[in-house]
Amino acid sequence: MSNVSNLDDFVVALPKAELHVHLVGSASVDTVLALAARHPEAGVPTDAAALREFYQFRDFDHFVRVYLAVQSLIRTAADIELLVTGLARELAAQQVRYAEVTVTPYNHLLDGMSDDALLTGLADGRTEASERYGVELAWCFDIPGEQGVLGGRETVAFALGNRPQGLVSFGLGGPEVGVGRAQFAPMFTAAREAGLRSVPHAGETTGPATVWSAIHDLGAERIGHGTSAGSDPRLLDYARERGIVFEVCPTSNVRTRQVPSIEAHPIRRMLDHGVPVTLNTDDPPMFGATLVGEYRAVAGTLGLTARELAELARTSVTASFQSEAGKANTLAEIDKVLAEYERG
Ligand SMILES: [Zn+2]
Repeated sequence: MSNVSNLDDFVVALPKAELHVHLVGSASVDTVLALAARHPEAGVPTDAAALREFYQFRDFDHFVRVYLAVQSLIRTAADIELLVTGLARELAAQQVRYAEVTVTPYNHLLDGMSDDALLTGLADGRTEASERYGVELAWCFDIPGEQGVLGGRETVAFALGNRPQGLVSFGLGGPEVGVGRAQFAPMFTAAREAGLRSVPHAGETTGPATVWSAIHDLGAERIGHGTSAGSDPRLLDYARERGIVFEVCPTSNVRTRQVPSIEAHPIRRMLDHGVPVTLNTDDPPMFGATLVGEYRAVAGTLGLTARELAELARTSVTASFQSEAGKANTLAEIDKVLAEYERG
């Protein structure tokens, strides 16, 4: 009994990195309610009970529709800054030292936000995250897959044309069904040549062929989700040999009904294969998820020890695109917290 609660405390104390979280999807319920009241025409509920009901996703397409409705509430630099600092506060409370946050510039621009408003909101929020909460934030700009090649071109032009402080990677999100990865190869090539790292979503709602395509066509260094790779041992072997990381988001996959339960999640197979895996929240308030909650859920389901949990936290740091000095600091902190826990 006490051991379980100690392990729960250990999970909170463990310094970690969050590598797969979407800015819009990180909006707290209170933030969404405030924005929904300001913009009632968007059709997002303005009371907490109705918002919880709104967040009961019937399937992945329904989730995407809800996500886009929430996104349409975000209009100004101040709205963006509010999201960024709200996320930083949540991360700091969970001992997250560093996070790579996915932003989808093209969708904000389609909603009528100016380039300047988006960039200013991100920059001001990032500064406040560091100074007030001690959390270092980095950005991944991603293509909204549903916007096709045009969305891809606009996203890479925005990323490389503005190249804001903290931008480290280039991604691809949204639906996978009917949205082949290979059509975005030219944009990923341009982004990679400019020094951005490749982190597309793949294998969240489609089979392992999409993950192979993300690797071969888009040069993926990390895969967003990669859930279906669990059914392809050759792919798992390949990922292990090449050090390709899977950003696993267990609660997200349950809530969008891609897996029936955390027990049924292929994370066990990935870890048994020696594939580098990180735990992540994706869209935490929408899914009722926290990063601490993901570590606890996986620890409980797989029966992980403190040492194994520390190893997952270490992977989140080593698989990140943070500076080597930043990584070394957090890794040393993890060792210290583990040593204290093991001394009892
Ligand atoms: Zn995602």
